[in-house]
Amino acid sequence: MLAAGIGPGDEVITSPMTFCATVNAIIHSGAKPVLVDCDRYSMNILTEAIEQKITARTKAIVPIHFAERCCEMQAIMEIASRYGLRLIEDCAHAIESEYHGIKAGRFGDMGCFSFYVTKNVVTGEGGMVITDDDRLAEQIKILGLHGMDQDAWQRFSDEGYKHYQVVHAGFKYNMMDIQAAIGIHQLKRVEDFWKRRRQVWQHYNEAFKDLPCILPIDQQPNKRHAYHLYTPLIDIDRIGRSRDWVLNAMNAENIGTGVHYIPVHLHRYYQKAFGWKTGDFPNAEWIGARTLSLPLSGGLAANDTDDVCEAFYKVLMSSVDI
Ligand SMILES: *Cc1c(COP(=O)(O)O)cnc(C)c1O
Repeated sequence: MLAAGIGPGDEVITSPMTFCATVNAIIHSGAKPVLVDCDRYSMNILTEAIEQKITARTKAIVPIHFAERCCEMQAIMEIASRYGLRLIEDCAHAIESEYHGIKAGRFGDMGCFSFYVTKNVVTGEGGMVITDDDRLAEQIKILGLHGMDQDAWQRFSDEGYKHYQVVHAGFKYNMMDIQAAIGIHQLKRVEDFWKRRRQVWQHYNEAFKDLPCILPIDQQPNKRHAYHLYTPLIDIDRIGRSRDWVLNAMNAENIGTGVHYIPVHLHRYYQKAFGWKTGDFPNAEWIGARTLSLPLSGGLAANDTDDVCEAFYKVLMSSVDI
């Protein structure tokens, strides 16, 4: 955000169906997050609703490629260029995602990836920003390391010590070289893990096709799916139970689950800070009340996925009349 020149008085458009980090990054730059509801099935920002939220203060759009599926990048890029807005892609779920053969993160001015423990490349903590704008790359490097214009490799090279200048009040946001060394060796395995997750995904789809839930969107034409999260939407009306009931029942069956996500605007802090309230983004709320993430990882063995299938079947079918 800061490298893109975003700050106080500016507005940045994103979706409420995301992890809080997306919105916090906007807030910490001093700008105001402006939310646009998401689509119920792709869970991505509603492209056709973006323009209504653009004002004279809007500086950027931050689409999240949710769970693995690319946003409608062609249309979003057109909007960004028509209004002269920066486009910053949240690619935390989208390491393997492609749209018309182009990798997620290459459409906008910048693409932001996470290597947190729950992602498809893991360095413990850390992440990556990609850009083909040299000036942005330079700004990001400087801001991420105390605002110094030369990093340690440059200051202590074989050519002798070099002075640096502090050109911004920067941050300590660099990823450690040790973490990068762990991450870089995983790049070779990205494809194999992807294939294994696709297998698990297909196994789940087959096992759950008659259950009272909506299965997550599979591979679509012109989009490569990252198979990052497996997020069925529970038919809570049909089973007469809440998603949290299902979550607890799965836990009782010894299957760990997650929720991606309770929408951003339902969290206390944002409600207080921005006056957002229940009812503001009905599609995100609809997903937030029904979504459940089942185990999905390249490390799952066949008997693990069998356990998940058995438990999910038992939990969902225990509540419906067949
Ligand atoms: C994980 C995640 C982030 C933040 O990643 P960190 O590396 O934990 O800061 C941002 N956006 C989304 C959608 C995420 O899932």
